[in-house]
Amino acid sequence: MEQPRECCGLLLGSVAEIVEAVPLENVSVDGIRRYEIAPADYFAQVKACRERGDVSVVGAYHSHPRSEPVPSATDLAEGFANFWFLIAGPVSNDAPLAIRAFRLVDGVFTEDVIRAVRPG
Ligand SMILES: [Zn+2]
Repeated sequence: MEQPRECCGLLLGSVAEIVEAVPLENVSVDGIRRYEIAPADYFAQVKACRERGDVSVVGAYHSHPRSEPVPSATDLAEGFANFWFLIAGPVSNDAPLAIRAFRLVDGVFTEDVIRAVRPG
């Protein structure tokens, strides 16, 4: 459990499908309100994917421990195109956790509908 810090990690897969979520350390000095993945961790995953050959790094996930799973101003400022941003957070105080997926298209976060597929 990363609480109260935001958790984060990278998503591996293809343009159509995320097949794996890799938990990584949140190295932000302000980890209660933001997340940051160490460049070394990012490049290690890129390299591992290249060696595997069947997946690539297609996105990142992080949590909003105290707010809805929609992109914050910081997420917008630090986001970039062609990458999925999955955000997990509470919908309200007593509602269960929701996970929502966004991509930055022409400078605006656009939500994608995600569908969970169980392996096998
Ligand atoms: Zn965020």
